[in-house]
Amino acid sequence: MVSALRDARRGFLYSPLPGYGVARVCRACGEPAACAECGGMLRAEEGSVRCSVCGAEGRCARCGARNFGLARGGAERVEEWARRATTVPVVRIGSEDRPRPPGEGEVLVGGVEAVKDFGPVGLDLVGILDADLAARRPGLSAVERALASWFEAAAWARPKGRVIVQTRSPNDPAVQALVTGRPERFHRAEIARRAQAGFPVGAAVFRVSGTAGLEAELRALEPTTLLVSGLGEQTVCLLALEPGRVGAFGRAARALAERGVVTRVEAEPHL
Ligand SMILES: [Zn+2]
Ligand SMILES: [Zn+2]
Repeated sequence: MVSALRDARRGFLYSPLPGYGVARVCRACGEPAACAECGGMLRAEEGSVRCSVCGAEGRCARCGARNFGLARGGAERVEEWARRATTVPVVRIGSEDRPRPPGEGEVLVGGVEAVKDFGPVGLDLVGILDADLAARRPGLSAVERALASWFEAAAWARPKGRVIVQTRSPNDPAVQALVTGRPERFHRAEIARRAQAGFPVGAAVFRVSGTAGLEAELRALEPTTLLVSGLGEQTVCLLALEPGRVGAFGRAARALAERGVVTRVEAEPHL
């Protein structure tokens, strides 16, 4: 990546994490860093440290200090690194900036918001950094969404540029799909993974909230998968259904809503 960047006149570095790094430890008391308000992760971004969950200013939950040891990583860190590796100007596209392709003699650094279909861009180099983060994101379709962004960014290197992917798992199906240009490689692996997780490809997925009787009522519909959790007084059920059972589910959900057992139904929730 370093030598490719040195030779590139026009490039794009895809960095999926915002900011400069994550606070690991309080420098004053040595306690692991966590938000004093909510216990969330503290992220250094645009020169200040804030909670990535509640947005509060970063203060040590134990002693209130504002000075943290950081694990560096993220688009701002990539920008700093790229400035030393290339002689052309390096510009970072933030989440508030308007996406655009890199100009002549320019390297852009950006995350998912920066990646748009601009048609053929003709870059010398596209770097996909921290590809392994995709697998650690929550949600069933996190890797699929990441792969879509990678493909979009990689297309900017057409027709003659290079694409370099940074990963510790080069055999990962998503990485291989990108490297070989064949998304079906990912798709094949995904079919098995989704089935194993209880949410097979093609199943209809609903999140249903309601009262304590909800679980038994939904169980009677013979869902493929039914996961039950509680939120205060509420019961929250996540269910996957064969497509043929959706009609029966719809009728049951309406009847249960009239009885007050169901309070909310979300179709295809973000998992
Ligand atoms: Zn402290
Ligand atoms: Zn917080």
